[in-house]
Parts: sequence; C-alpha cells; structure tokens
Amino acid sequence: MSYLYLVEHDRGELNEASLGGLTATVDLAERLGAAVHVALLGDAADDLVAEVSEHGPAVVHRVHHELLADYGPDAWAAALHQLGEELGASAYLATGTDRGNEVLAHVAAKADLAMVANCIEITETADAWEMKRLRWGGSLHEIARLEAPVKIATFAAHTTEPTPRPGIVGQIAQPFVPELGDAEAVTLVRDRVVTAEGVTLATAPVVVSGGRGVGSAEAFAALEELAELLNGVVGCSRVVTNNGWRPHSDQVGQTGTVVAPDLYIACGISGAVQHWVGMMNAKHVLAINTDAEAPMVTKANWAVVADLHAVLPAVSEEIKRRHG
Ligand code: FAD
Repeated sequence: MSYLYLVEHDRGELNEASLGGLTATVDLAERLGAAVHVALLGDAADDLVAEVSEHGPAVVHRVHHELLADYGPDAWAAALHQLGEELGASAYLATGTDRGNEVLAHVAAKADLAMVANCIEITETADAWEMKRLRWGGSLHEIARLEAPVKIATFAAHTTEPTPRPGIVGQIAQPFVPELGDAEAVTLVRDRVVTAEGVTLATAPVVVSGGRGVGSAEAFAALEELAELLNGVVGCSRVVTNNGWRPHSDQVGQTGTVVAPDLYIACGISGAVQHWVGMMNAKHVLAINTDAEAPMVTKANWAVVADLHAVLPAVSEEIKRRHG
C-alpha cells in the first residue's frame, strides 16, 4: 500500500507548512502500514530532495516536464495523478494550503472521487477513513467519513510540527516524466509582480498586528517601528482594511492571510473568531488591549491591559535602550 504526498514549493522554494503535512502523512502511514512516496514537481524542486528525504518518505519522485516550470493547477494535478496511477497509490495527500487544496481537488475531479480538505486527525475503520477536519475557517470541527477505493485528503496547515526522521532517508526514484499538453497549460503562472520584498506576513517569525483600537492609518507608525525592531512585519484585522488604513495583503484571518509566527502581538484587536482562526497557530500571543474581557486578552499567553498608544512607544524605547 502506498500513499502519494505532494510536497509544495514555489519555484524551488519549499513551503515549510508542507513539511508538517509530510510528517502527518508519515505518522498516518506508519499506523496504517503504508509506504509514503513524495512528489517533487518541476526541475526547480530537485534541490529539495535532500531536505524532504530526511522527513520519513520511503521514496522521493522528481517529476520533470517543461509545463512544471512554474505553478499550474492543471499541470500539477495531471502530473501527480499520472504518477499515482503508475504507483497504484491508495491515497493522495497534501497540506491544506491554497495550492495543496486546489491541486488535490483537481486530482479528485480527474479520478472522479471525493476529496476531504483540512484534516486534523485521520483514523481508519474497516472500510473507511474517519476524519476530523476544520470547517468555517477553523471555528468548527467536522467529523467526516470517507469511503472510496482511493483516498484524497489534505492535512490542515500548521497543525503538525515538521519532524525529521533520523536514520531514515528516502530512496530517490528515477525521474518521472508525465504526459502533459495543451489541456494542462490552461492555467499556468507565467509572470509575477513583486508586491513585498523580504519577509512576508505568512512567514514572518514576529507579527505586530493592529485592529480598530489603533484608530487611524497614521497611528500604525508605532506598530511599524516595533515590527522593525523585532525583525517582524505588520498585520491587521479586517476592520482596519475595511477602513482603508492598511492594504488587504496585511489582513490576518479567515478572509486574509493565515499566520503561524513565534510571536503574535495583537494591538487593539478584540479577537473575533474570524481573526482568531488566522493566527491561532502562533506559538505565543501577546495582547495589548484596554478591555480585560476581550477574547484576545483572555486567550493570549500574555496581556497588557492598557492603551496601546502608550504601551507601544514605551516597548520600542525599551528595546532601543537595551540594544544601546
Ligand atoms: P473590534 O472588534 O472593534 O475590536 C477593537 C478592540 O480594540 C477592542 O477589543 C477594544 O477593547 C480595543 N481597543 C480600543 N481602543 C484601544 C486602545 N487605545 N488600546 C488598546 N486596545 C484598544 N476579521 C479579521 O480580522 N480577519 C478576517 O479575515 C475576517 N474575516 C471575516 C469574514 C467574515 C465572513 C465575517 C462576517 C467577518 C470577518 N472578520 C474578519 C471580521 C471580524 O468578525 C471582526 O469584526 C474583526 O476581526 C474585528 O476587528 P477588530 O478586532 O480590529 O475590531
């Protein structure tokens, strides 16, 4: 029995969340007695072979084709499906990022099978998989039952810590060359416009995020200063983007970016569920809020119950003083 796992990358840059999904897949395969095969799509992904093979797969497949030079859901899905057919894969798995869910949805359509997205737990019964999965942006857990000859599912991003498996190194297979043509070239990334340089909201280790309590676009200067001192980036709530204080690309939450930084500093954010689901995987949360009863304050690891306009400059000054 073999499971085929899609490792997600962008022009050869590994999506770290994808390693967490690989760990979840390897754990599942160990419990159910399957071998994990991973697919690295495109020449650019060849550089990831060593890192990926340390995370427990039995076999690493490098999949080469000119249509895999950049992301394209049709081409990625067709390549993955053809490799899976060749292997006789009994499951296709990926991490539930936008791309992971998109590609596996295409695979499911090709195979005319069901797909279950954003699982946090999978167990096997005699004839099916029982899966607990995130719905409504993570505010609801659904128990789903999947009965299908071939299972197709994604693991919710950032819910399993990537864990290398010392001593187990995946065998490197011969390159696999799928048959791709015009039908797979309908949607392909051809060009890009860079809107943000350096650390992005999705990958920053520190996010200093502001909500309605910040009060104005200009007042975000205090958050920018603190973010810069901590090598972080600024995020915000939807109220802030609705008010036009920050661009939508800064928004954290169900309809914004999902983040999982080491430290999330929530300034004047109440902690509505639609915001919380976007940052609940932060390792530590510091809330700065005047309302001691705000959900963000009661759920945070640490809270300062005070006016953020007084707290933020004081924190920045103290950091500068300590840095000399
Ligand atoms: P508020 O809820 O108004 O909270 C402001 C907080 O600031 C309060 O806790 C207050 O005590 C505090 N405060 C005020 N003044 C100060 C001060 N001087 N110092 C310190 N604290 C102060 N929201 C998102 O953020 N992201 C999403 O992706 C998102 N998606 C949504 C999708 C849907 C379908 C819907 C219906 C809603 C969505 N929302 C989203 C909106 C969400 O429900 C909340 O309305 C929003 O998150 C609230 O933003 P806020 O915390 O900035 O504002």
